[in-house]
Amino acid sequence: MYTFDYHLHSKFSADSEMTMDELCQTAVDKGLDEIAITDHHDIDYKDNTIEFLLDKNKYLKEIEKCQQRYKGDLVIKKGVEIGLQSHILKECNNYLDQDFDFIIGSFHTAEKKDLYNGDFFKNYSQWEAYIQYLKSVLEVVRNYDNYSVIGHLDIIRRYGDFNTQPDLMENNKAAELIREILKIIIRKDKGLEVNTSGYRIDAKNPLPSFEILKLYYKLGGKILTIGSDSHTPDKVTNKFNYTKSKLKEIGFKELTTFAKMKPVFHKI
Ligand SMILES: [Zn+2]
Ligand SMILES: [Zn+2]
Repeated sequence: MYTFDYHLHSKFSADSEMTMDELCQTAVDKGLDEIAITDHHDIDYKDNTIEFLLDKNKYLKEIEKCQQRYKGDLVIKKGVEIGLQSHILKECNNYLDQDFDFIIGSFHTAEKKDLYNGDFFKNYSQWEAYIQYLKSVLEVVRNYDNYSVIGHLDIIRRYGDFNTQPDLMENNKAAELIREILKIIIRKDKGLEVNTSGYRIDAKNPLPSFEILKLYYKLGGKILTIGSDSHTPDKVTNKFNYTKSKLKEIGFKELTTFAKMKPVFHKI
């Protein structure tokens, strides 16, 4: 079986300590056939205490070096995780140009406020916040196409100071928005990622939850990547076997890698 991890952060991301070489060596040691390195580029990120901007030329050169070094042992793709917000879509498009094999479109902010530091949640109840978040995702997927998959779609569950992290499908309005988002993604031949860092907040579910993934399958969604979102070596391929068996139960038969933005399908 062809194996890959499609969401990995090296030291080019402010929140990772792994060198690219260390990351590639870890992938080889874990027996992977392919990886996409997907460091952060968040334009107009709303927390001033940290910066997630990527020096594209330097970054791509370093990936090319690794591609040479690991030739025959590991396929390494030029990926990026771009932070999407409705007011910067043009800048995102310009930055990305045609330079990547694979682009994760992620939401780390909503309504120009940061999710991680809690700013976004200040004036909302829990479900209000979740619904407003989904509305801003919907606005972006309607208006923007330069990405391969949407990253950790229900990441909002991870943040905010709440006692519980309910599945977004439990609320009718939220479920309706998710259905709308998924339909657009499918219609535009885009995909979803299954992000296994999700088990940190919910022992039974990745991001997005299996309930959302079931709906994606039912609506005809086929493009699906799997990624650990690792910032340290120990997390690479975290819980992939469990996740893959659950995906097969839902009905998915293939997972996707990308080459120059084109999906390539592999049997699970
Ligand atoms: Zn992310
Ligand atoms: Zn990430």
